[in-house]
Amino acid sequence: MALIDGTKISLQILTDLKLIIDKYNLDLKLTVILIGNNSASLSYVKMKASDAKDIGINVEIIHKDEDVQEHEIVEIIKKNNIDPSVNGILLQLPIPTHLNSTYLLNLIDPLKDVDGLSHVNIGKLYSQYKGLKPCTPSGCLFLLKKYSIPLAGKKAVVIGRSNLVGRPMAALLEQEDATVTICHSKTKNLKEICLEADIIIAAAGSPYLIKDDMVTVDATVIDVGINFINGKLLGDVDFNKVQPIVKYISPVPGGVGPMTRAMLMKNIIHAYSLQNNPKILRENIFKNAND
Ligand code: NAD
Repeated sequence: MALIDGTKISLQILTDLKLIIDKYNLDLKLTVILIGNNSASLSYVKMKASDAKDIGINVEIIHKDEDVQEHEIVEIIKKNNIDPSVNGILLQLPIPTHLNSTYLLNLIDPLKDVDGLSHVNIGKLYSQYKGLKPCTPSGCLFLLKKYSIPLAGKKAVVIGRSNLVGRPMAALLEQEDATVTICHSKTKNLKEICLEADIIIAAAGSPYLIKDDMVTVDATVIDVGINFINGKLLGDVDFNKVQPIVKYISPVPGGVGPMTRAMLMKNIIHAYSLQNNPKILRENIFKNAND
């Protein structure tokens, strides 16, 4: 078994991105809109801001109360859309249910949509047109490529069909010529489907979902899940039992999480390039992972 080290790879990416920022003397800014006091969101935003600061990206966090009116968020997005000093706008999800997340995500200028969740960028992803792609599936793909895990002609199983992870992940793998099966909460025979897989991407949010009798010695397992059990962070894979069997596995923590943040930083530079200087997209880091 080999461990897929997302922390190590993410640090390499941040180093490479910093070199690009210095080479082109980029003055970058990300605006984060944070609503309410969800403890996970507060911690994610803190980590994103810290990564950004480390490589010289300015971050403005606009923190609004849980009961904020939708028109206030609309005004913030519109103001940032036309502000040339802002390269990326991120609406931290989830947002309170009285707000319409689809409407708000689609108000973000697609060229500043660094989470890649607007209909324009989702459409670009599915039609293989250059755009900003969702960070978590991009991070998973980056890991698979970095570890030279063959994808063309391989059987990939994606567990989860959300717009945030499962669906774009399946599209990215299909575009790498994998044969992709998407599983979800209504899927029957998950075990049998997983036993056929060369690559398993677990993104269900269900701890211990992937067990040792569901994997083969040839499998690569990428664990996207984030679950807290008695205060402990776990993925979707029964890591201790699955790890000795499979060929490659990404742990939680230290797998996909740091890669998601690294891909956000990459997307901010990608967004700047689309707005100002497409030449930057010729840099190697943008060539390596389906850009
Ligand atoms: P979601 O709840 O929107 O979607 C979960 C999907 O999993 C659904 O499509 C559902 O049908 C499927 N599912 C649930 N239980 C299942 C089961 N028992 N068998 C098969 N399919 C099942 O969640 P999401 O936003 O897609 O996130 C998925 C997981 O990934 C969550 O744990 C989330 O916290 C985590 N996540 C991690 C990162 C990261 O950076 N590491 C980023 C985003 C999401």
